Amino acid sequence: MSMNVKDYIRTIADFPHEGILFRDVTTLFADARGFRIAVDQLLAPYAGARIDKVVGLEARGFILGGAVAHQLSTGFVPIRKKGKLPGAVISQAYQLEYGEAVVEVHDDALKPGERVLIVDDLLATGGTAAAGITLCERLGAKVVGCAFVIDLPDLGGRRVLEGLGHEVHALTA
Ligand code: 5GP
Repeated sequence: MSMNVKDYIRTIADFPHEGILFRDVTTLFADARGFRIAVDQLLAPYAGARIDKVVGLEARGFILGGAVAHQLSTGFVPIRKKGKLPGAVISQAYQLEYGEAVVEVHDDALKPGERVLIVDDLLATGGTAAAGITLCERLGAKVVGCAFVIDLPDLGGRRVLEGLGHEVHALTA
């Protein structure tokens, strides 16, 4: 019975492509103690901070962000991949290694001045989180922090987000 989230995460080789070591957090989510530790540690730095909404990035950010929002007694807002949200949206494109991706949020999901915490499972290049931050800011919200279970430091995401003036909180490398 470990208190270290890293002990609940497994690495799967060659997923989704050959040569990629994929960090699989389903084993963390499936373990009662592991999931609780992860959620508690994700929100610990924000004790006493005013947070109006938790914003989760598709898809594992929904699982974590929903639990974090419940614990903080805030609302939850999903940022989804293009074409998934039913209402009027704003869209943000960002660069992938090959090509580009688009994420969206409902255009009425955040109000100007609302303070948000962004949650996802893993920070790699920072492209997804940076696009999510941009969407929040385009709606006039203030991003108070970005919380991840895993930061892959070699991929530079922390530098990108900190360079944009945002605080990054990660539980393990
Ligand atoms: P980035 O945009 O920072 O390069 O990539 C982060 C996004 O890709 C996150 O939404 C994350 O869920 C996903 N991702 C990339 N690599 C992995 C991985 O090895 N494991 C998991 N669980 N997610 C990953």
